Amino acid sequence: MASPVILKIALPTPIRRLFDYVLPKSIDLNMLMPGMRVRVPFQSRHLVGVFIAAAKDTSVPIDKLKEVTEILDDSPLFSHDIYQLCLFASDYYHHSLGDVFSAAMPSLLRAGKSKKCQKKDELHFAIADEWPDLNPDQAHAVTVMSEALFSHSVFLLDGVTGSGKTEVYFHIIKKALENKTQILVMLPEISLTPQTIGRFRSRFQVTIAIFHSGLSEKERLSSWSMAQSGDAKIVIGTRSSVFVPFKKLGLIVVDEEHDSSFKQQDRFRYQARDLAVMRARMNRIPIILGSATPSLESICNAKKKKYIHLVLKNRAGLAVFPNYHIVDTNHDKAEQGLSSFLHQSIKAHLDQNNQVMLFLNQRGFAPVLFCIECGWSAHCKRCDVRMVYHHRPNHLLCHHCGAKNKIPNHCDQGHSKSLQAVGVGTQRLHDALSEFFPSVPIIRIDRDTTKRKGALVDLLTQIHQHEKAILLGTQMLAKGHHFKNVTLVGVIDADRGLFSADFRATEQMGQLLLQISGRAGREEKKGTVLIQTRYPTHPLLRTLIDQGYSSFADLLLDERRIANMPPFSYFALFRAEAYKEKTANQFLIKIKELESLYGSDLTILGPISALIEKRNGLYCQHVLIKASHRAFLQNCLSDIVTRIETWPESKKIKWIVDVDPIHVV
Ligand SMILES: [Zn+2]
Ligand SMILES: [Zn+2]
Repeated sequence: MASPVILKIALPTPIRRLFDYVLPKSIDLNMLMPGMRVRVPFQSRHLVGVFIAAAKDTSVPIDKLKEVTEILDDSPLFSHDIYQLCLFASDYYHHSLGDVFSAAMPSLLRAGKSKKCQKKDELHFAIADEWPDLNPDQAHAVTVMSEALFSHSVFLLDGVTGSGKTEVYFHIIKKALENKTQILVMLPEISLTPQTIGRFRSRFQVTIAIFHSGLSEKERLSSWSMAQSGDAKIVIGTRSSVFVPFKKLGLIVVDEEHDSSFKQQDRFRYQARDLAVMRARMNRIPIILGSATPSLESICNAKKKKYIHLVLKNRAGLAVFPNYHIVDTNHDKAEQGLSSFLHQSIKAHLDQNNQVMLFLNQRGFAPVLFCIECGWSAHCKRCDVRMVYHHRPNHLLCHHCGAKNKIPNHCDQGHSKSLQAVGVGTQRLHDALSEFFPSVPIIRIDRDTTKRKGALVDLLTQIHQHEKAILLGTQMLAKGHHFKNVTLVGVIDADRGLFSADFRATEQMGQLLLQISGRAGREEKKGTVLIQTRYPTHPLLRTLIDQGYSSFADLLLDERRIANMPPFSYFALFRAEAYKEKTANQFLIKIKELESLYGSDLTILGPISALIEKRNGLYCQHVLIKASHRAFLQNCLSDIVTRIETWPESKKIKWIVDVDPIHVV
């Protein structure tokens, strides 16, 4: 009797290996191709997995193996490039291959549904006739990129806010369409607005598919299928669109490439921008990384000539650069968040019938409920953080675990008259502004006011309806939106980013400050940016304001080089979480002890407690792995992960590995 055929299947579990199954006699092996989905029994349920290879051998006793229940596809679900990209990502991020495949599919496919989808009517192929003239920088960028349309290059399109990067994208997209190829445009979640999509639709009357997590499962599958069949000429999507299959992909654009939302922060922790570059390389096609404030990684790659650096120096059209003013809040004390200078400026700009935008990265009413008698403050019992005071309805909210408590009427020591809400959140600032400017509409944009589906769009519409108004928000307000009446931008507190334990915090602060400033004076009106700080002479802040982002980035790159930090070295983080502090700590110490195996080119730092030591009842600690070479780090990580998986405690504790982490606190 011939021995049964063993099938190697990738399953959506965190376990980093393939699973062996037997091919039922009723199924012909020739029907199976790598990348096809199969349904298999797993423990007490059924899972949808991906067939990888057939084999003769297995390490499991053959009578213990189960049969595959069903073959779900008649051809591979994944195009060759996506299949290869998933293999690469699973290796690089040390994540289970089955989980990676699972993340690369729309949820209906993950559940085993058919990929066949109703065909939508294809739009008549047309491109708008009227195109605005390009300035010399834009024209140069378009020429250079056009020459590379049939080969692989990475372009860093580095253009100040308002310099017309989108117009450059449009020109290259037009050429790619004329070459009968499809285009993938990746945007941060927050910039994928109806406004953005509208700009694409008015320029290109072709089928445009949208792909992001806010769509229904059906809509996602429909976009996915339209891209795969070639019906959709342009796909606009967020992070996960890097895994959308195409019939003939010819160009990838990643806008706001520095944005941290391209990095997935849980489970499969991939960096979509980096995978997009890898995908472009596999397909031998060009990719454009665009930003007004490029990541230090991309700037470094441009300096090394790995990326082609194209700079748009000037603002397009009539828009001019804003004026910057620093307000020293040591002298001009802020009351309810506003210094008197900022207060007067708001009044002056409103009197001119303009809009004012205020930026404060703290939602809620006040960050602390504090007892002035004994110094007590309200903490979350499950996390090691202060709870934030929210108004209407009044409650305390933990911004980490979501725990909600009533406002206590006394502190731990029983003081009842001395509890005070200290600090300013967007709610409190909103209240203060309504008092100061009772006749002016105040529109607040933060996670609390945009919870309801469609709420953000409503608020953005309101902004465009009013002439004068105050817009107030967290970083949600900072990105991508185009408000033509804003002439004053106020940054309520710039100091958080200057002093943080996280090595990327300053870079992100600089990017955010420029993004916010980019909101002022986008059209013919000149803008002003007011920054409130207690450190008006801080060298990084001064460089950013006096010399611009590129000098600021150079200064930061020098700091990183001296400290041997990314992009001059490579990081990976092992994080462990446990209900007992000791459990997490001992597990990480065991990882630390492996350091000596790898020589002096690899350093393991820690274990240390995370900045928020306890979150949701779990103690959280990590070790940081640092190496001078990426390939060496990868080899060591494979070895470390393999070893960890043989440890019995690794099955009892929650642990993850994060390659190229964006936060290390
Ligand atoms: Zn007290
Ligand atoms: Zn909490």
